[in-house]
Amino acid sequence: MLNKKSVSDINVKGKKVLVRCDFNVPIKDGTVTDDNRIVGALPTIKYLLKNDSKVILCSHLGRPKGEFNMKYTLAPVAAKLSDYLGIPVVLAKDIIGEDAKKKAAALKNGEVLLLENVRFHAEEEKNDPTFAKELASLAEIYVNDAFGTAHRAHASTAGVADYLPAVCGFLIQKEIDIMGKALNDPDRPFVAILGGAKVADKLKVIENLLGKVDTLIIGGGMAYTFLAAQEKGIGKSMLDAEKVDYCKKMLADAKEKGVKLLLPVDTIVGKAFPDPIDAEITVHTVCTCEIPADEMGLDIGEKSEALFADAIKGAKTVVWNGPMGVFENPVLAKGTIAVAKALAESNAVTIVGGGDSAAAVEQLGFADKITHISTGGGASLEFLEGLELPGISCLNNK
Ligand code: AMP
Repeated sequence: MLNKKSVSDINVKGKKVLVRCDFNVPIKDGTVTDDNRIVGALPTIKYLLKNDSKVILCSHLGRPKGEFNMKYTLAPVAAKLSDYLGIPVVLAKDIIGEDAKKKAAALKNGEVLLLENVRFHAEEEKNDPTFAKELASLAEIYVNDAFGTAHRAHASTAGVADYLPAVCGFLIQKEIDIMGKALNDPDRPFVAILGGAKVADKLKVIENLLGKVDTLIIGGGMAYTFLAAQEKGIGKSMLDAEKVDYCKKMLADAKEKGVKLLLPVDTIVGKAFPDPIDAEITVHTVCTCEIPADEMGLDIGEKSEALFADAIKGAKTVVWNGPMGVFENPVLAKGTIAVAKALAESNAVTIVGGGDSAAAVEQLGFADKITHISTGGGASLEFLEGLELPGISCLNNK
């Protein structure tokens, strides 16, 4: 359980509350095209409004590289928020400038102000203390509810906590409670599924999970380095040559710990990586014991789908992060879809890490059949690594 104070543990009535949200949403032609992260922030904002706070919201959007650039304005987010809250959401023209200060000072109880994109200042990502102090001076309380950036120590995600009472919002609380329970006190069997491109990106996740799960399933590009570690020929499949020894060690560790480590038993192969990624491609399925020397594995095959689905079916807790194949190409998306479907059909506590796997689950319309879809890709991965997230460790203890 999260040992940090939350917004419901302190008196917020009549107080100016600075809330760091993750409003880094996709925008096309001035309109928000996926508002999941905005919806995720609503419980905290509504709670503060109901409790007569003066709410000052802030977030980053995209990568404006430390300069005011209206291509990255939060104006479309203000409009969307205003629709959801049913009250005006005033947008300040700056972050710590005259306009933000004037508008923050004029706020009345139950009103909402949104500051402009915090990354219009280079000091944000540098966690500059002067900038953090100026930002903090707008408010009396700091609430961090931006799980998607909780793995970053920036001024608005961590620095401000040096100058104000600092607590978490309901979104961060929910993310940590659900994922923390799965990692530290899971209902068993506990099955984790990892996919995605490289072993190198998931080294610490694999190590940490091996100490906790009953079954670890590995698919995606990273599976081929594990197959190579078992001395199987992998043809032209993706290989992290430097990580073969690491994979050997993980296979041995799994055996020693009594963890079942499942790798694909068959794979869909093609002659070359599709270029562009959604180009037409001719493929066929082979056993992972006989991948042809001139072909590469681009998705798991049907037997692997069934093997993985069977493990998921017997689980009480399932955590999934990363696609099973080059899912951007419809011909190579079947394995990822099969895993998403197995999670949706399972009665277990199912948790999907952010990023590609979360997008897959949402696109397929399975989102409401999953216990928890994390709003943070990088942050949820670091959480699975067992790391302390700076945006959470900076908050006041209970
Ligand atoms: P990650 O960012 O590590 O989660 O990796 C996601 C990427 O891995 C996606 O863009 C997939 O296309 C890619 N990927 C998945 N399976 C394979 C594979 N067998 N070979 C090459 N790339 C893959």
